[in-house]
Amino acid sequence: MKKLFLLIATTALLASCTHTTVEKEKTCCKNSNEFMTMAVLYHQKAAETKAIYYQTFNWAKTLFENDLADKSIKQKRAVVVDIDETVLDNSPYEAKCILSNISYPDQWNEWCSLGKADALPGAVEFLKFVADSKADVFYITNRSEKLREATRNNLKAQGFPQADDQHLMMKTDSTNKELYRNFVAKSYHICLLMGDNLSDFTNVFDKRSIETRNHRTDSLRNEFGRRFIVMPNTMYGDWEMAVYLNNTKLSEHEKDSMRKANLVQY
Ligand SMILES: [Mg+2]
Repeated sequence: MKKLFLLIATTALLASCTHTTVEKEKTCCKNSNEFMTMAVLYHQKAAETKAIYYQTFNWAKTLFENDLADKSIKQKRAVVVDIDETVLDNSPYEAKCILSNISYPDQWNEWCSLGKADALPGAVEFLKFVADSKADVFYITNRSEKLREATRNNLKAQGFPQADDQHLMMKTDSTNKELYRNFVAKSYHICLLMGDNLSDFTNVFDKRSIETRNHRTDSLRNEFGRRFIVMPNTMYGDWEMAVYLNNTKLSEHEKDSMRKANLVQY
């Protein structure tokens, strides 16, 4: 009788533990992208985001004008920009991820193929000024080569200058951003590099830890706001992957735990 009671009690306890685990998973990951809501709202609705883009492109223009005034530079000038969250706004895709509970790369190609990403505030005006100043604009992106036509059409529709195959550099299996930057640097004086991800400036940040990314940012402090112009992106980036220790195989529950474990509280 005693053994039977013990068996029933153990079974009940195990059932309750399993139930608790399932409930925990449901609570944390009912919508695995819920955590992105404030980041996307900040990007889409905070006038501060718009102000930061204006501020950044205004400052870029000042730097570019200073560079133009330097008559010792004989090479043709170029400004290198990233595309996503630097000159084109993909926040509607991020919003779709939240509301449909999907994650990148789900439907990313479909979104890009629509060619409906808006220009970010101040981007077209600044790059037109660059092109009108007889400098070249190079768009270096990690969008895949198969999105070339859609991307080019999207840029053109938004009024971006020099949105042609010569100036649009897409990711392929055998290329990366550093390779393209070096290619441009062979023939041009690169006045500015603009991007929302530190890998848009140099490859020393590629797939690095939070600590290394921060140390290397400290080492390069004199480049920021001078030759490296950083755009805000609260929604995604290599910084997020660094939180996950660059592990792409984590479950949503594990990622949720790692995000919380990285918060610094008093
Ligand atoms: Mg980007």
